[in-house]
Amino acid sequence: MIDYNNGKIMEKVKEIPFYGDYDVIVAGGGVAGFGAAVAVGKRGYKVLLIEATSALGGLATMGLVNIPLDFVSGIGREMMDELEAVEGHWHRNTNIEKHKLVLDRMVKKYNVDVLFVTSIVDAIMDGDIVKGVVIQTKTGRQYITAKRFIDATGDSDLAFYAGAETESGRPEDGMSQACSLEFILGGVRWEDYQNSDLKKNDPRWTKLIKEDLESGLLPYESDNHLNWITHVPGRPQNCGMDEVSICLVHSRKCYPLDSNDLTRMYFEGREQATMLAEYIKKRVPGFENSFLTTTASLLGVRESRRIVGEYRLTAEDIAFCHKHDDVIAISNHGYDIHNFEETGNVKWAPIMLNGEIQYVISNSGGFGTTTPPPYGKPVVNAKGQTAEFAEFEPNRTYDIPYRCLVPVKIENLLAAGRNLSSDIYAQSGARLILCCLSMGEAAGVATCISLAEGVTPRNIDVKKLQTELISTGCNLGQAMREINGVSVDSISHDVKYSNPEYSATSVTIKNEANEFTRK
Ligand SMILES: Cc1cc2nc3c(=O)[nH]c(=O)nc-3n(C[C@H](O)[C@H](O)[C@H](O)COP(=O)(O)OP(=O)(O)OC[C@H]3O[C@@H](n4cnc5c(N)ncnc54)[C@H](O)[C@@H]3O)c2cc1C
Repeated sequence: MIDYNNGKIMEKVKEIPFYGDYDVIVAGGGVAGFGAAVAVGKRGYKVLLIEATSALGGLATMGLVNIPLDFVSGIGREMMDELEAVEGHWHRNTNIEKHKLVLDRMVKKYNVDVLFVTSIVDAIMDGDIVKGVVIQTKTGRQYITAKRFIDATGDSDLAFYAGAETESGRPEDGMSQACSLEFILGGVRWEDYQNSDLKKNDPRWTKLIKEDLESGLLPYESDNHLNWITHVPGRPQNCGMDEVSICLVHSRKCYPLDSNDLTRMYFEGREQATMLAEYIKKRVPGFENSFLTTTASLLGVRESRRIVGEYRLTAEDIAFCHKHDDVIAISNHGYDIHNFEETGNVKWAPIMLNGEIQYVISNSGGFGTTTPPPYGKPVVNAKGQTAEFAEFEPNRTYDIPYRCLVPVKIENLLAAGRNLSSDIYAQSGARLILCCLSMGEAAGVATCISLAEGVTPRNIDVKKLQTELISTGCNLGQAMREINGVSVDSISHDVKYSNPEYSATSVTIKNEANEFTRK
């Protein structure tokens, strides 16, 4: 029945066929969902991973974000080893096609059932317990039941459908930070670019962009600096045919849960990528014969809907590198907010320090913001020191507590990945690919413990979870500090893949001092 006056219709009541029953359903096959599903599959539980697109990896593959950063740990290590075995990884850059393949092979190896091109569109609830999900397939809707659920959709879709408390974007109006459609250029002479004056003297292209905007060579500003440019390993190399992946497209004033706005951003992203490809060809050494090969099939949404969990990771956690007794993953990535409405990035957060609001970078480092704090104030580190005088503690990681994955209301659901419970500043730090994967792995292991012990994920013994994670090669920071109640027999800090800018013993501070960091 159509009610034209009310602008709404009643959905037709119809029977939905049953698809199957699982121990665990993982919603979303990005790196977090991949980590979660593999962790469950490894432990012998029947697990189904449901992914809306046609491959695993989410932003790390379909979004062309080919730089898996943060700590390589547990299943993340296994993934990097598999990538290396197929020559799909070089200097922390991945070959996207090989990455997809490695993820395919790993889920098969660990008996994870996968449904591609299938969206979760609703939750079947019994009070605060999720009984199943409704999926949309080419043949219509079906439902699937399970005992436990992990929401790794990035957007907290399942948690939202289940009625969990969520928040999205910045507090005042729900606007999300800038979204980016990544793109790849082929026909690049990478070595020439590496050895160019531009790379040496203006690596973030800030001067180039400013000059060319003034002269009109650059038609408009997508951002005031290059965010990153990475070599795509494994493509024809050193013959002027290198490929690079670029983060320079930006849409602002974003509402990435709104289909109209998503459509606007895909249109805008493809136009910007085309404009930038032509500009870069004209202006950047080594790119004279370059051409646009592809734009991402998945828009780079940095943050959207986050669960409200038992703990909310805060800007202060990042600034002061807080440690938590229920740590399940660590990160050393500082704030990285791509401005909501204007060009530029913010690498500081307003924090009460020494009795006043100061504009603080993470103790992990991170001077070099392109956006000055308000009132002409300087950017400072957690000790209130400006770039020239900054000293950093050696142990510069912060913890992701298990409670950030546990929604306050729903009983048999965990979240993992960029939708963790956090404020927008903390989320901008904790969202790196390998940190998301580690959160997924922790959610998967926690779910298995909850199944084995017959308790809800909220009520598991977290010490058991931490012990299991550490004993299976996960880095919870145990080499750098004691975790309350967890005994670690042999402590090894394997640096094979450790973050190149990070070492637990020696600290290198990269002060990209600029006018905004000086007093
Ligand atoms: C432009 C950009 C640049 C970045 N740069 C870096 C970088 O240099 N290094 C780094 O480490 N990190 C970087 N990041 C961050 C990182 O890529 C992401 O935060 C991380 O990959 C998120 O992983 P995830 O699994 O939590 O979410 P996602 O990758 O978003 O995965 C979520 C998955 O769920 C699926 N899904 C969503 N809704 C549904 C549904 N209803 N039903 C079924 N499936 C669903 C999606 O299709 C997707 O595959 C960047 C991010 C962006 C956007």
